[in-house]
Amino acid sequence: MSYKLFIPGPVAVSEKTLRAMARPMIGHRSSDFIALYRDMQPGLQALFGTRDPVYLATSSAWGVMEGSLRNVVRKKVLCCMNGAFSDKWLDVARRCGLEAAPLQFEWGQPVDPAALRAELAKGGYDAVTIIHNETSCGCMSDLPALAAVLREFPEVIGIVDTVSSLSAVPIDKDALGLDIVLTGSQKALALPPGLTLVSVSPRALARAATAPARGYYFDLVEFQKNHEGGMTPSTPVIPLIYALQSKLEDIAAEGLAARFARQARLNRTVRDWGYARGFRLFPREGYGSVTLNCFANTLGVDLVAVNKALKEKHGFVIDGGYGKLKGTTFRISNMGDETDATIADLLRALDVVLAGLGAK
Ligand SMILES: *Cc1c(COP(=O)(O)O)cnc(C)c1O
Repeated sequence: MSYKLFIPGPVAVSEKTLRAMARPMIGHRSSDFIALYRDMQPGLQALFGTRDPVYLATSSAWGVMEGSLRNVVRKKVLCCMNGAFSDKWLDVARRCGLEAAPLQFEWGQPVDPAALRAELAKGGYDAVTIIHNETSCGCMSDLPALAAVLREFPEVIGIVDTVSSLSAVPIDKDALGLDIVLTGSQKALALPPGLTLVSVSPRALARAATAPARGYYFDLVEFQKNHEGGMTPSTPVIPLIYALQSKLEDIAAEGLAARFARQARLNRTVRDWGYARGFRLFPREGYGSVTLNCFANTLGVDLVAVNKALKEKHGFVIDGGYGKLKGTTFRISNMGDETDATIADLLRALDVVLAGLGAK
């Protein structure tokens, strides 16, 4: 059975990307791999807004999210929390045996730069975790404002998750002075899951070099050493790297500015549709994600029935709410390769389904 995902990850993958993955394998220490790896660096650096390398890690995002903590936290990490993924990051830090403290906001509220400044000013922290776009509740925090606070605390290394935002909105790592920026393959980039991209500042690398228990698989110093030879520390997921190269071609062909504009436009289309049907946005006004809409289920529709009919009759799947928001919110992704036409198809189908269930 085949259907198309409009959930906020994994998202639908294009035929072109799937075909790119089907190419024959090459040795990961071969000159062909080195050429492939080096060929992608300028495009990746443009995406991250950085002159630092962009490493390719074979794991989902959590691997690098955990690994980054092990690399840079020597004293204590402050975890900015406003949704399921950012809440979990505190738990992950503690499971690594690290000292970690929460800076908690309600789900759907953005991370408050003033609160971040006030907490860091108390001292004792040497790292901060921030999720730019909390996919679980569709809330996008003001990254430039948070980065400005981090720049006031030079001893603090910022680890920034842009899993569901990088390549959809401008992220200028160097201009913002960010230390570690990471993204996963299966969200905004619309690749299959399994690859994480991470760019690391020299400052963060210097910190990592002093971390005795940073391990091997996610050792940033190893990534840098191998990067210098055009390689990854261990055998990478080569099909996904082919897919990434293909995606970078797509992005170059569309143009970054046009890609950002398309994401903003599709997001607005879905949001206006929801408002017109009587739904409210779940996150605070002004902080709605640009890559998905998380609507509060203000009409009380049966989301399980909606998704069942949507999938069986129209071949589309949306998300019926993450974790504790299941049933009370629903999420529609506009990440990746979506177009005006594909979003219009989905919204038309949703209207048919809602009408069939007796909702307005
Ligand atoms: C999906 C997601 C993650 C987790 O990614 P995995 O690929 O499952 O490891 C982390 N952060 C954000 C913001 C996400 O959307």
